This record gives sequence, C-alpha cells and structure tokens, in this order.
Amino acid sequence: MNIGIDLGGSHVGIGVVDNNGKILEKFEKDFSVEEKKELKNVAIQYIVDIVNKLKEKYEFSKVGLGVAGTVSNGVILKSVNLGIKNFDMKKELEKRIGVNVIIKNDAKCAAIAEYEFGDLKLYDNILFLTLGTGIGGAYIYEGKLLEGTNYDGFEYGHMIINKNGIECKCGKRGCFERYGSILSFKNKVIQKLNLSHDIPGPELRLVIDNSKEEIKDIINEYIDDLSIGISNLVNIFEPDCIVIGGGFARYDYLLLDKLHEKLLQSNLLFNNRNEIIIKTAKLGNDAGIIGASKLV
Ligand SMILES: [Zn+2]
Repeated sequence: MNIGIDLGGSHVGIGVVDNNGKILEKFEKDFSVEEKKELKNVAIQYIVDIVNKLKEKYEFSKVGLGVAGTVSNGVILKSVNLGIKNFDMKKELEKRIGVNVIIKNDAKCAAIAEYEFGDLKLYDNILFLTLGTGIGGAYIYEGKLLEGTNYDGFEYGHMIINKNGIECKCGKRGCFERYGSILSFKNKVIQKLNLSHDIPGPELRLVIDNSKEEIKDIINEYIDDLSIGISNLVNIFEPDCIVIGGGFARYDYLLLDKLHEKLLQSNLLFNNRNEIIIKTAKLGNDAGIIGASKLV
C-alpha cells in the first residue's frame, strides 16, 4: 500500500491506496474562503497531521503528492491556484513527516491513475483534462505521458480563448480556465442564485440539480466556452479519446451529453468527425490521490 495526496486550490485529499489502485482509507478537507487566504500553511498542517497519524497505523517510506502547479525536483515553481511560488514543498514536508516525498503536477497524476486503473488502455491518443478550480492537462501517447523538457507543459488551462477576456491568476487575460473550469461554472451559479461562496459542495450540487431550468443560460454559456477550448485541443492532437476529470465528474450527468453534442454539431472541429469519444474520468475525483500514490 502507498500514500497519495491530491492538493488543489479548493480541496486536499489524502488516501491510503493498495497496489490495485483501490483506496482503503481517505481523508479530505475543503478549504473555506478564509482558509484559502492562508492556503499553503493550512494545507501543509493538514497533510502533516494526517500523515503522522497514518504512520502509527501503516508502514510506508514515501508519500506521493500531486499539486495544481508547475513542479521541479520537489519545488513548486508556480501554482496560481494555490498562490505558491518557488517553494520547496518536498523539503518542508520531509522535515515534518520524516518520509520521502515525491511531487508531481496533479493533472499528470490523475492521468497516470486513469490510464493505469481506468479503461483507457484501448486508446493510443488520450487527451486528458481536469476541470476543477482551474484546468489541468495531460496527454498520453501510446501509453506514455508526454512532458516538456524543462517544465511539465500541457497547461491547457492557460491557453487564451478570449483576447480581452477575464483576468487570470497567471497574469494573462482570457485564459481557458477562467471560462471552462468547474469553479467558473459554480461561481456563475452562485452569483445567479444569490448563494454563499462558502456553500458546501454537496449542498450546491443539490441546488444545481433543482434549478436546472433557472440556470439553463449558464449551462449553455459554459458548454460554449468549454467546447471552444476542447475543440482547439482536438484540432491540435486529434485524440482517440478525451477524458475529463476533476470536479466536473460530479456534474457530468448535466454537462457531458451537451458538450459531446456541441463538439460534433458546431463548426469548431477542423476535421469532420462522425463521432468523438469523450468521457469523464472513471476514478472521478479520486484519480489525483491514486495517481500520486503511484509516484516513485
Ligand atoms: Zn492563465
């Protein structure tokens, strides 16, 4: 068994994972609006507390951590959604938990898990996106995760889809993630229905489920934006299969068919297709934890 941690901008999950990718035990925390201001310290403290507790029960010599950001040798070079820059996360955690810590970009972790334990081995060209607080990306070609030379790359979320668009935390304007992340969808719903930004996830899901008619325009606008970004990627890579992970998986019953339809019926695709395979990550929001547990 191994320990995998998934650290995103709204949530941290820690899991004890067996060799078949099954989560035996899981600990999770959603960050409140207040905690997000001190996210680095809050997240580190939570991880340290849980891992030290797990040390009493299990034997392990390493911990895998997936973070939403650019990572090199354990240093988080840049994470716009966590508000962390040039921070040696590996050193800090190893000092406080006393085991080896291996860190990788969270979307890449999720893609590794989906490939290893999902049902993707049928495909040679897999476009993988996580739609959560931001948008993470990965690409698997013939079973291999593609990566840049100096950086992870495949940062689909920061592809500009609107020249004078909304300002992104990365400093640019009009980035795909400001339109296509599940957070941007949720924020629009929260605003329209006058809800609190601190509304717990399950409660928000219930409200959304009961307000489908009222938020129809928001859903359509979200699908429009999402299909622009995804069609750009399809035109570049011509994948056999598109897999979407992250918080999106919780709303797939509402969004996936519409997205599929829009991609096929709009004029966004350069090459005509009769079919496009697009599915939500089989491991859902657990993919990050499971993938992180596989890091060596
Ligand atoms: Zn950006």
